[in-house]
Amino acid sequence: MERTLSIIKPDAVAKGVIGKILDRFESNGLKIAATRKMQLSRADAEAFYAVHSERPFFGDLVDFMISGPVVVSVLEGENALIKNRQLMGATNPKEAEAGTIRADFAENIDANAVHGSDSAENAAVEIAFFFSEREIS
Ligand code: ADP
Ligand code: MG
Repeated sequence: MERTLSIIKPDAVAKGVIGKILDRFESNGLKIAATRKMQLSRADAEAFYAVHSERPFFGDLVDFMISGPVVVSVLEGENALIKNRQLMGATNPKEAEAGTIRADFAENIDANAVHGSDSAENAAVEIAFFFSEREIS
């Protein structure tokens, strides 16, 4: 069993597709081990995306991630990390495969509906950023 962190980003929350996205996970063998809707502070978003702090899009990414509430979840299952990345689709929704979350719900590379951890190491750090062990089951 593996765990990964998912974020439903402000664009998808504003569109009212939280349930539809969580259903993609549950329908594809990923258990929702923890979940919370919350408003990120600027400090939260800057710390969460610290690995991207030198990228030219960092400022826009932080502004976008605090533009409205998000839903953070821990997904659990066999190969949860890669499975979630497959369900998400490519970072740029224009390149995302048909039937993926980003192809179906995202507008553009800035407002791309979901985040998913990209490595086991980052998943552990990202899960601990949002949840204590007693909130995960
Ligand atoms: P992913 O979310 O697919 O793991 P990255 O980790 O590379 O993608 O980037 C983090 C987020 O930063 C992306 O989801 C996207 O919202 C934003 N981003 C990435 N690349 C660009 C870009 N070239 N222009 C604008 N925003 C970008
Ligand atoms: Mg990433």
